[in-house]
Amino acid sequence: MKKKKGLTFKVISALILGAIVGLLLNLFAPGVFDIVNPYVFVPLGQIFLALISMLVVPLVFLSLVLGVAGLGDPAKLGRIGVKTITYFIVTTTIAITIGMALAAVIQPGLAGDFDLEGASFETEDAPPISETLLDIIPDNPLAAMTEGNMLQIIVFAVFVGLALIALGEKTRSLTNLIEQGNEVMMYLVGIVMKFAPYGTFGLIATAVGSQGLSAMQAMGAYMLVILGALLIHSAFTYGGTVLFLAKKSPVWFFKEFFPAMTVAFSTSSSTGTLPVSMEVAQTKLKIPKSISSFVQPLGATINMDGTAIMQGVATLFIAQAYGLDLTIGELATVVLTAVLASIGTAGVPGVGLIMLAMVLTSVGLPVEGIGLVIGIDRLLDMSRTAVNISGDAACALYVAETEKKRAMKKA
Ligand code: ASP
Repeated sequence: MKKKKGLTFKVISALILGAIVGLLLNLFAPGVFDIVNPYVFVPLGQIFLALISMLVVPLVFLSLVLGVAGLGDPAKLGRIGVKTITYFIVTTTIAITIGMALAAVIQPGLAGDFDLEGASFETEDAPPISETLLDIIPDNPLAAMTEGNMLQIIVFAVFVGLALIALGEKTRSLTNLIEQGNEVMMYLVGIVMKFAPYGTFGLIATAVGSQGLSAMQAMGAYMLVILGALLIHSAFTYGGTVLFLAKKSPVWFFKEFFPAMTVAFSTSSSTGTLPVSMEVAQTKLKIPKSISSFVQPLGATINMDGTAIMQGVATLFIAQAYGLDLTIGELATVVLTAVLASIGTAGVPGVGLIMLAMVLTSVGLPVEGIGLVIGIDRLLDMSRTAVNISGDAACALYVAETEKKRAMKKA
């Protein structure tokens, strides 16, 4: 226990130190930063990223198969699934509404003269949401794993888990083998986390050091609105979930989950953080494996409240900067498309901004507007990713506690 505390402390110290070093070099010695960054900061960050990413696919697969098999009852899986997806959609809608309300009141798009002529953004081809959702049954499970297609991996794991329930004793040794494989992965998460302080330092130093700080000044109001909305959403929506739905202390929740949030913050990747967020949820928040390994990988893929907040605020910001008014109907369209866009956003750095194109197009706003916000998106991406994974953990806790209560009532 004592050792674990030490690690959290080290990661947080590394985060602060990385930010200070990055900031000082950015302000006073950009030349030195350009030399040190590719040889020190980037390799440290990339090694850490590769180490945790290495564990994502095997961990999610093994632990979800095991989780489903451990449920013992397919109907329970259905109930957990309905609760989870309902929670995801409701909280994402709340998130966008908070973001848009704040943006409507503070009006960050009127806070400066933005270079509308110079703004440009090449739309990359984001896959249509329908494709992501319809494509969830893998025609080749191994291809799904090599591509890291999380939804397909989840579906295959659920099938295998259900088969293990049906076959029972017949496949006991395979279940045992999967259990041991999962143990190995969890052990490796612990080992990889020992490198987390160095990785975090490198990732943060790169992010802060290469950030255009002058661009940040002009975009201050926009950034504040997003950070404010992220904070309000975390405190009220997740705090409320933990307090009223799970009947636990929000302070306890955020304190225990904090190490995972710092990793999400430094990597900007919900999917990459999965090994850590699942480990923290299972060992510290005491969420059963069957629930954590279903809710969290699914959430890391489709539940992105932080991203939805950014998309809502960015849309209003761009409308304000271009002097375009949105009708009530158009605002409702923004809410709806931002829910879909955040579902379609992959849990990796920067994709939320690409999916923003879809929201802008839905109400006829110029996609080039993304060019206005792209320069400062890195720091916001870090913050929203920490919120994205907290939503998944809050949901997992809520499902776990309500399931526990149900089982106790039955008993
Ligand atoms: N980086 C975010 C995540 O992984 C996605 C995004 O908003 O770009 O959760």
